[in-house]
Amino acid sequence: MKKEKISVLPYRFDGSNRLEIKSIPTRVAPLYHSKKEYRGMLKAHQESIHELQSMMYAHDQYSLLLIFQAMDAAGKDGTIRHVMSGVNPHGVTIHAFKRPSSTELDHDYMWRTTTKLPMRGKIGIFNRSYYEEVLVVRVHEKILTDYQKVPDEFIQDIPAVWDQRLEDIRNFEKFLHRNGTRVVKFFLNLSKEEQKNRFLSRLNTPSKNWKFEEGDLRERQYWDDYQGCYEEAINATATDNSPWYVIPADDKKNMRLMVAQAIEDELSALHISYPSVDEERKAEFDKFREMLHNE
Ligand code: ATP
Ligand code: MG
Repeated sequence: MKKEKISVLPYRFDGSNRLEIKSIPTRVAPLYHSKKEYRGMLKAHQESIHELQSMMYAHDQYSLLLIFQAMDAAGKDGTIRHVMSGVNPHGVTIHAFKRPSSTELDHDYMWRTTTKLPMRGKIGIFNRSYYEEVLVVRVHEKILTDYQKVPDEFIQDIPAVWDQRLEDIRNFEKFLHRNGTRVVKFFLNLSKEEQKNRFLSRLNTPSKNWKFEEGDLRERQYWDDYQGCYEEAINATATDNSPWYVIPADDKKNMRLMVAQAIEDELSALHISYPSVDEERKAEFDKFREMLHNE
């Protein structure tokens, strides 16, 4: 199928203009006209991502870190599964970051994610990430004051803590960039109404009952606080080297196509190529060919 290029530029934030979440759509006109067309489009993207990752692996200098952040029920899991399913499993690592364990709380907050960064040549996927430190922890300040073991002297001025964390994250991502890891961040932008529909569908559809969590309903009450924290985090950490994509998420198929296009664009922008074979080595190939023929 002929692949049409989707423009995801309007949803890419690199710090050159300020994001106002309220002015960004959660739903846009579908890029596909039928389920069949959607499947064909997604497959073409999966193949391109596969080819680009193979080249990145052979080149062995860069890696790509994809971070997925969203409100509950936005479809992080499904997007990761659908978009990445064409890639060689050896080429991708996926980690989900939940509430920190006691061992994790015995370290600084970057520790658990740092140990899971992708090797050169690979794509690493974080389903939630260190951004939770300026999202859920900011919305529920008690996590910082009562559970995290940051020395008291450093959490006296709590508003300053969020600014410091955002600065540290920005610097950390700059460090990663300078060392060959491209960090690309996705905020799957779901509307409050669509979240309600999805929660209701989890309650009303027996096969989806297991997905319903009361805790998600509690977090929904903090919707506006979360949106404010997302907006601030994205504006503070969107750079050309580590951009954010704010992807309309009310239509899952459309969202997956846009995420796939963004990943393809970011991989294509890397200076990667297959290592070339010089003339001397090519001459050796004749010898190897002869050895095989003469077996
Ligand atoms: P799913 O519900 O689809 O399984 P999920 O990512 O929502 O995926 P959950 O186990 O439901 O997984 O939720 C994980 C919870 O852990 C989220 O509420 C998230 O905000 C929270 N969390 C993640 N990182 C931290 C952190 N550093 N400190 C406190 N809470 C965190
Ligand atoms: Mg959840």
